[in-house]
Amino acid sequence: MALTHLLSLTDQALNQFVLGIGQPEFRSRQLRNWLFSNLEIDFQKMQNLPKAMQNSLQETATCSVLSLKAEQISEDGTTKWAFETQDKNVFESVLIPSENRRSLCVSSQVGCAMGCKFCRTASMGFIRNLSLGEILEQVHFANRHLKQHDGSRISNVIFMGMGEPLHNLEAVALACEILNSEDGFGISRNKITVSTSGVVPKILEWARRASQFKLAISLNGSNNLMRDSLMPINRRWPLEVLLETADEYIRLTGQRLTFEYILIKDITATPEAAHELKQIAAHRNCKLNLIPLNPGSFPGRSELAAPSESEIEEFENILNTGGFQVLRRKPRGRDIFAACGQLAIQQKEVA
Ligand code: SAH
Ligand code: SF4
Repeated sequence: MALTHLLSLTDQALNQFVLGIGQPEFRSRQLRNWLFSNLEIDFQKMQNLPKAMQNSLQETATCSVLSLKAEQISEDGTTKWAFETQDKNVFESVLIPSENRRSLCVSSQVGCAMGCKFCRTASMGFIRNLSLGEILEQVHFANRHLKQHDGSRISNVIFMGMGEPLHNLEAVALACEILNSEDGFGISRNKITVSTSGVVPKILEWARRASQFKLAISLNGSNNLMRDSLMPINRRWPLEVLLETADEYIRLTGQRLTFEYILIKDITATPEAAHELKQIAAHRNCKLNLIPLNPGSFPGRSELAAPSESEIEEFENILNTGGFQVLRRKPRGRDIFAACGQLAIQQKEVA
């Protein structure tokens, strides 16, 4: 019988689970306290639970289906973990500490099917969706790590690791709810962000299903020709359709949207593109995150390069007069290939 992953249960489901193993309801409060306050995952160490309950938990439940395969620490403090699933797939998460934040970049899939030309994850292809437990365990693991280091907790979760989160929508939506739950991880809803390459029907489904969390759309091109050449998804849902959907999302949710925009020398980072992008962002309730290309070996597109500092500044100057917020994302963990678009594991290398 498959073990129940306790981190993947909502409050109600955990109550039900505890009743189901023949224990009174107040025990679920104690269990939750062990799991989320003490970050304990060893049932035998949950001292105030009766032995019989510890044994039932041992037989029917787990909090740990991932094993740590590798840890790399960047010179800027960013830490990348490679986790192995029980079926021997490997994926990564990245802890990005800053003065007042502990952000975790989580994966929602092993690999990715979207084939973006600038992204190393694309070279893995799609292997499988991560389960709810596998998604949440990344955050619990990071909390356990932080507890030992500085006593802090993950404050922000960004679904910007491997995979297209909206292709694993139900698990990602539930994960966000449990991350946000007061009795669970307790992370504020506006510190949970899901980033999509632009899966149009799923954006609308997300707006209905999980509108309280933040959504970022990877625009990455200011016209169809440019976006077609970088992101195969643009042929399915071209820019004008994506932007209409973005408007619909803003209308349905009342939330501000983030557009992510990758800066690639001579392709997306030209002054003409900046003017087009300004037109796109100017009359929408959005903010813009500019991400200078992080290096990698991009299959079939070895010519892709980051723009120079002065080219980036020129690009920013054009946008800065647009009346919307523009932020440049600082690259973190490039030396250990932990920055945006740098996550990739060749499964056979580690098998
Ligand atoms: N799959 C989702 C989320 C993961 S990628 C998505 O594509 O939105 C997170 C962000 O990193 C995306 O905005 C993506 O466009 C960007 N990105 C991918 N490869 C990159 C690279 N080599 N350099 C900089 N940003 C990159
Ligand atoms: Fe997938 Fe996002 Fe990488 Fe595109 S940028 S291949 S959608 S992980």
